[in-house]
Amino acid sequence: MAHTLQELADLIFPQVSETVADLEARYPRRQLPEGAMVTRFAPSPTGFLHTGSLFTALVAYTVAKRTGGVYFFRLEDTDQKREVAGTGDQLVDQLAWFGVVQDEGYMGADRPEKGAYGPYVQSKRQAIYDVVIKHLILAGRAYPCFCSKHDLDELRAVQEANKVVPGYYGSYARCRKLSLTEQLRRIRAGEPYVIRFRSEGDVNRTFVIRDLVRGALTLPENDQDIVIRKSDGLPTYHFAHLVDDHFMGTNCVTRGEEWLSSLPIHAELFKAMGWEAPQYAHLPVIMVNDAETGNKRKLSKRKDREAAVSYFIEQGYPKEGIIRYLLTIANSNFEEWMRANPRADVSEFPFSFSKMSRDGALFDLPKLNDISQNYLAYMSARDIARAANEWAVRFCPELAAFIAADPERFEAIMNIERDQPKPRKDYVKYSDIYPKVAFFDPAVYDRVENLPFDEKVSPADRRAILEGFAQDMGLERTADTWFGLVKDLGARLGFAPSMKEYKADPSAFKGFSGDVASVIRVAVTGSRNSPSLYHVLKILGADEIRRRVNRVLATLR
Ligand code: GLU
Repeated sequence: MAHTLQELADLIFPQVSETVADLEARYPRRQLPEGAMVTRFAPSPTGFLHTGSLFTALVAYTVAKRTGGVYFFRLEDTDQKREVAGTGDQLVDQLAWFGVVQDEGYMGADRPEKGAYGPYVQSKRQAIYDVVIKHLILAGRAYPCFCSKHDLDELRAVQEANKVVPGYYGSYARCRKLSLTEQLRRIRAGEPYVIRFRSEGDVNRTFVIRDLVRGALTLPENDQDIVIRKSDGLPTYHFAHLVDDHFMGTNCVTRGEEWLSSLPIHAELFKAMGWEAPQYAHLPVIMVNDAETGNKRKLSKRKDREAAVSYFIEQGYPKEGIIRYLLTIANSNFEEWMRANPRADVSEFPFSFSKMSRDGALFDLPKLNDISQNYLAYMSARDIARAANEWAVRFCPELAAFIAADPERFEAIMNIERDQPKPRKDYVKYSDIYPKVAFFDPAVYDRVENLPFDEKVSPADRRAILEGFAQDMGLERTADTWFGLVKDLGARLGFAPSMKEYKADPSAFKGFSGDVASVIRVAVTGSRNSPSLYHVLKILGADEIRRRVNRVLATLR
């Protein structure tokens, strides 16, 4: 009696009794408003949160939020050799810290999954993949392949010698020609095998597919009989994403442009299943100029510290600054929008695929710095104080202790020239704060040995300035009128009220009011640079100022 595909399918999958129709019933179509996009982030748990992955996840999240859709998290852990245990959890937590929180899916190892389309971890979906593979075998679109690694190496050598495209296809696909009898015999004999897709494509023919970022693409058809099920029973990425995105109702796949070249395979697989393929958006990858070769290359986790998001976090970049920077890569008009709306929440930005660059974006540190600096400037004093503390507790004990010593003082320091239409831009990252504010701490101030006075003002004049200042510090004045006190004090001692007047007749003056203020600043802060002197004095308070001034005067007598 002639053998049948049913025999083959049952021999390989004796335990599979469900059909694709059963799966369709178990995972019904999502009921969503018109235009709602269902997106996902589907990382392999291979280590840490890569800057490029944060970008990809952010885009998927943003698209779902903007369209009233669903963003879910799927763990692609079928390449067990590459897996680093526990990193699925870390990815979820790190993304959540950035506010990129999934509506459904894998939520972390010890937390229950959310959503009706699970399991959302590929290694738990083998039964589902097997149903679909059984279906493909019955349809004549999949077959067992017994080629060993040695056979495949040999094949590659032959193809190289013949200068033809490498791979398992056409006449090179040896096992696609095996008879059913032969297939059944070898499986029964216990030979190891994988399952391959039987392609019907022809690389000499093209097809058109629309990419949301790149527009209509004309691509050659696939003709490779790719492996869909490995010898360990787990699916390959090409096949697993197809099954998962179909049954999970993904209608928009956002992924790195490195997948563009396998799009013909995916298109053919969807066609073979008779399923509508999701829309694809192939995102630009983040690049750097290689220090050695000068060539552009992908941000590499081995070579670039910037490849790990944790690097920026440790450095004290605010997460919102990082997100904003990544959005400038996502949409060319984001930066303009952000400048026009410096206090707006990024969720208000009208993201669109049409504004996404098609080329890999060069990682731009000065831009990140600039965005971060602006973001910190426009935060409220309370928010920056809280966020700086959160960072300091993890990464900067000195700052954490400084804040703990007097949280109210810290907030007041953060508020210096902040609550105004154009706030000061003192800090690029949280790590810039402590060096600039440490002088408020009396113990830190007392450790400064040589006060950096400008030699232009003689020690005698320094003394006269500080004595005059100690008598009337003007702390009851407002920020606008305080400098009048400095001018008056200077005038009494022979300093011009303004730089202009001094320049007009340098021989008539010892200097100008700015020199007077500088003496006070150096005496009180231990440095020539400080935030607005008036505000610094207000926060230090009369007693501490007097203590510092007296200490300096003692050295000048
Ligand atoms: N696991 C794949 C990756 O990490 C997912 C690609 C995709 O989003 O489809 O690159």
